[in-house]
Amino acid sequence: MHPLTFVIESLFPTRCVSCREGGDWWCAACRTQAGYVFRDPCASCASLVREHSCERSDALDGLTAAGFYHARTLRDMLQALKYHGVRCVLPSVRIFFHEWKEQRLDPWPWVGVSALAIQHLPAAVNRVRERGFDQAIMFTEIVCQEIVPWAVRVDLLVRSSSATTQASLVHGSLRDANIRGAFSIHAGSIVPSEILLVDDVVTTGSTMREAARILRAAGAQKVYGIAFAVGA
Ligand SMILES: [Zn+2]
Repeated sequence: MHPLTFVIESLFPTRCVSCREGGDWWCAACRTQAGYVFRDPCASCASLVREHSCERSDALDGLTAAGFYHARTLRDMLQALKYHGVRCVLPSVRIFFHEWKEQRLDPWPWVGVSALAIQHLPAAVNRVRERGFDQAIMFTEIVCQEIVPWAVRVDLLVRSSSATTQASLVHGSLRDANIRGAFSIHAGSIVPSEILLVDDVVTTGSTMREAARILRAAGAQKVYGIAFAVGA
């Protein structure tokens, strides 16, 4: 071990952000306990309930997510990343995506698509300024590495500042209203035909649907979504 590594490890020992066991920043036991989502959420409302009626004209063309947001160990990890900037959990996030992909049986929503563009859902500019990073970009990098290495990264969307976070709003209709008009497209962008949107958490799908609305208005034919976690 490099002497400097020894000093850093002694001062800041590697400990799971959820269970505090040593050895890994988000440990295998906590990842297993979080569990994987094997049935894709509703492309309209992100519900995991199979039998429900929900026909929105602005639905995504497909939505998938790796983990359950209600899982405590997953939430602990996301909070450490989002609010405390603990980026050393990211290699474990990549393993989580990898294991989910390995165990998944259903086809991906974008099956058969030959040219897919991948776009992160940008966080509000004031949030990025507060935190110093946009976690959706980090998840997009991992999705590119693990799920769609053949997709082309694009950066089309601009998101305005927001006084109210989507997470603070309980009702879907309030989330829809709060996000309306939040996105625009970088001037001069060429919008690809098939786009995969990436976010950390999808709750009602309102943010993804609003981004999809803007992209479709600018010429996109199909817009899919992938989130690290689904749920409230
Ligand atoms: Zn743990």
